[in-house]
Amino acid sequence: MSGERRAEVLVVGGGPAGAMTAALLARRGRDVLVLEKARFPREKPCAEYLSPGVVAILQRAGVLDAVRAAGAAWPAGMHVDNGRASFLVAYHSPGGVEARTALGIPRPVFDQLLLDYARRCGARVWERWRVLAATVERGRVVGVRARASDGEVELRAELVVGADGIHSAVARSLGLDLPVRWPQRLGLVARYAGVRGIERFGAMHVGHGLYCGLAPVGFGLVNVGLVGALQTRRPGESMVRYFERRLAELPGAAEALRGARRVTPLRGVGPLARRVRRVAGPGYLLVGDAAGFLDPFTGEGVYRALRGAELAACAIERALQRCDRLPIGYERARQAAFADKERVCLLVQLFLGSPWGFDYVVRRLSARPHVARLLAGVLGDYRPARSALRPSYLWALLKP
Ligand SMILES: Cc1cc2nc3c(=O)[nH]c(=O)nc-3n(C[C@H](O)[C@H](O)[C@H](O)COP(=O)(O)OP(=O)(O)OC[C@H]3O[C@@H](n4cnc5c(N)ncnc54)[C@H](O)[C@@H]3O)c2cc1C
Repeated sequence: MSGERRAEVLVVGGGPAGAMTAALLARRGRDVLVLEKARFPREKPCAEYLSPGVVAILQRAGVLDAVRAAGAAWPAGMHVDNGRASFLVAYHSPGGVEARTALGIPRPVFDQLLLDYARRCGARVWERWRVLAATVERGRVVGVRARASDGEVELRAELVVGADGIHSAVARSLGLDLPVRWPQRLGLVARYAGVRGIERFGAMHVGHGLYCGLAPVGFGLVNVGLVGALQTRRPGESMVRYFERRLAELPGAAEALRGARRVTPLRGVGPLARRVRRVAGPGYLLVGDAAGFLDPFTGEGVYRALRGAELAACAIERALQRCDRLPIGYERARQAAFADKERVCLLVQLFLGSPWGFDYVVRRLSARPHVARLLAGVLGDYRPARSALRPSYLWALLKP
């Protein structure tokens, strides 16, 4: 073990949320220590389709050129198809030379780039450090208990950031997890070589209680992500068998994958959704999946991780300046940034759960390109989600 066992800010987890929070604070001269349980590069179950909103944040942070150099894919949108109708989620470019695109990139490559960026900004990063719990004294979080190769250690900080993902140890140890009853879904992903027709656009094939995303991720590979109801996995059925059986229920996806070869093991997460009681309190805040996650259909997980990191870094900087360890305003800033999009995502989930409803909406969107364009902007995280909740928009979308 090397280095000082305390820091101004301890960031638990070196994924996109943790790496970006650490980078932004270290850039401001703060003493930041990231504790990451894995050794990077590491895999993370993800469909690896990152919205145009992510591209904008990477540009703001000055890390987009490094991502470009890594050999990523830049899909211009996504075909959504339910076997009876389809529509194109195409991103509308703001004008000028640069087209607005999403980003397709293997997560081991992307996450390593961001963690290296945090290091370059001055953050210390300790890999293979598993945080067991937050340490609380007189009602405030004052550090964490962590396990490294030489045993268990207490580390102290002015503020602790729980960026440790969907099974956050920080949130669990503070009693912040809430039960999630709906949706109860299982997500499985793998990369394939030799997939046809997935270059400029990704594809989303939707079936009954089931969907499959195909995203180009560079390196001649396509990420195949399947999400279905948790209870549809038969007792004793292997993940591979389940994946193949359900994929066969989506003729469009099965056709695109004919002759293609799976080149990575199947990785999965279930249940996918996560909710927490609070995202901040004395001495701590949560960011990224640790602060809550719904379902990858609308593909905003990494956007929320990075935008949440920007908001967290601002709140932490203010708390450090005031010397009060209270991330005041963070919860409200997240509400302003994410609440409307969450409502849109819930509406999408409702339609997704009803084959008739989804059919109806897909047909309307395919016949009304201007309505589809606004939805693309909202789902792409570059238009305010509020605009898709206006009664006039909902009427334009849903009227017979
Ligand atoms: C099947 C599936 C498909 C998805 N597809 C997409 C998609 O296409 N687009 C999209 O934008 N989002 C997608 N998401 C969501 C996206 O993957 C997450 O929202 C995103 O990874 C959140 O980033 P994070 O940094 O919060 O968490 P993570 O990326 O999970 O990073 C957390 C880090 O914390 C570390 N850690 C965990 N516990 C500890 C501990 N106790 N101590 C120390 N370190 C710890 C982990 O090793 C990890 O490196 C998908 C999710 C799933 C499950």
